[in-house]
Amino acid sequence: MRTVYVNGDYLPENEATVSIFDRGFLMADGVYEVTSVLGGKLIDFAGHMARLERSLAELDMPKPAAFDELPEIHRELVRANGVGDGLVYLQITRGSDGDRDFVFPDAETTEPTLVLFTQSKPGLADNPAARTGLKVISIDDLRWGRRDIKTVQLLYPSMGKMMAKAAGADDAWMIEDGLVTEGTSNNAYIVKGNTIITRHLGTEILHGITRAAVLRFAAEAQMQVEERAFTLEEAKAADEAFVTSASAFVMPVVEIDGTAVGAGTPGPVATRLRDIYIEESRRAAV
Ligand code: PLP
Repeated sequence: MRTVYVNGDYLPENEATVSIFDRGFLMADGVYEVTSVLGGKLIDFAGHMARLERSLAELDMPKPAAFDELPEIHRELVRANGVGDGLVYLQITRGSDGDRDFVFPDAETTEPTLVLFTQSKPGLADNPAARTGLKVISIDDLRWGRRDIKTVQLLYPSMGKMMAKAAGADDAWMIEDGLVTEGTSNNAYIVKGNTIITRHLGTEILHGITRAAVLRFAAEAQMQVEERAFTLEEAKAADEAFVTSASAFVMPVVEIDGTAVGAGTPGPVATRLRDIYIEESRRAAV
């Protein structure tokens, strides 16, 4: 039985409750973050907190009173649940003033809802999928236009994972106007020659915290990086492909729509970046 955090209280998971009128439940009016834990320490924590603050600001959603205590709340949950490797999930919603209405409730009188829980994932950094690589399919990107905000509206990405599963693949890359936006829950990259190519930042993709770190490490290792949109055809003809996310780190992609990428096995660039990312992140973990 896990200890979870809800609105100021640490509780056993089966005693934690949120109102049925909560706007997160009724309207998907909420934002979230997922921070990985390795060796009991938080990975890229400052980045996740900075993006959380931005998501709240973009949606004009008030910060919960406990916002400044978030580092301590994360650490306490990791400690209370004995998490070695795993993750901390955090969600903030606009709360509820006790009824359903499209209009935002008065921020002066309505406290946002703050929920955190942990998931233990022993061996998170040693995922066997990193040795075989992922198979992805391409699907239309049917999400809303503000994908840079990390909202809990995850129905379409969830459907994308189901489409992948039905096709015998591991995940899906989303396509808009012939260009790859990103994976259902990760940023997408290809490697052509010596160049790493990943979509530029904008409202079309989530600004991955892992993406920012990986591009920094790539530059430090003198690798060439191009931040631009790429087509599905370019991806299929690339030497390598990979994805990044907080919980998967750097994960090679070896097949797109049944076409092998490069040699059809994890490539040297993805493998090297994965090693560097995990090593450097462990070093900087808090
Ligand atoms: N893109 C999408 C759509 C995501 O859902 C995620 C993570 O959940 C990412 C990219 C990767 O972001 P991060 O590296 O911050 O986990």
